[in-house]
Amino acid sequence: MSDRPVEKTLAEQALASYECRACGYVYEPDKGDSKSNTPAGTPFEQLPADWRCPVCGASRSAFVNIGARNAPSGFQENLNYGFGVNRLTPGQKNILIFGGLALAFLFFLSLYGLN
Ligand SMILES: [Zn+2]
Repeated sequence: MSDRPVEKTLAEQALASYECRACGYVYEPDKGDSKSNTPAGTPFEQLPADWRCPVCGASRSAFVNIGARNAPSGFQENLNYGFGVNRLTPGQKNILIFGGLALAFLFFLSLYGLN
């Protein structure tokens, strides 16, 4: 009997990805497999026994567990800090970009007007 703590890190909670040893395709559980209509969030272990690599057709036994990918490695709340621009919608980014260009153009015009 071991006394492993019940709490898991975020990385351990994430589902493991499996890589096809034949072609290098990686099955990512949080994406699923659209070719076999496997919904996102399906663990590799729950794929049907006749599931095959969508790229090369290798059987499930050709896949190896490569662990969780893209798992947050640190504290979840930190993900919301420090990258304000990255959280803008594309529309908001366009406003920033074109607004900046328009300002630069007006600035250029005003200099031209002074001459
Ligand atoms: Zn493959």
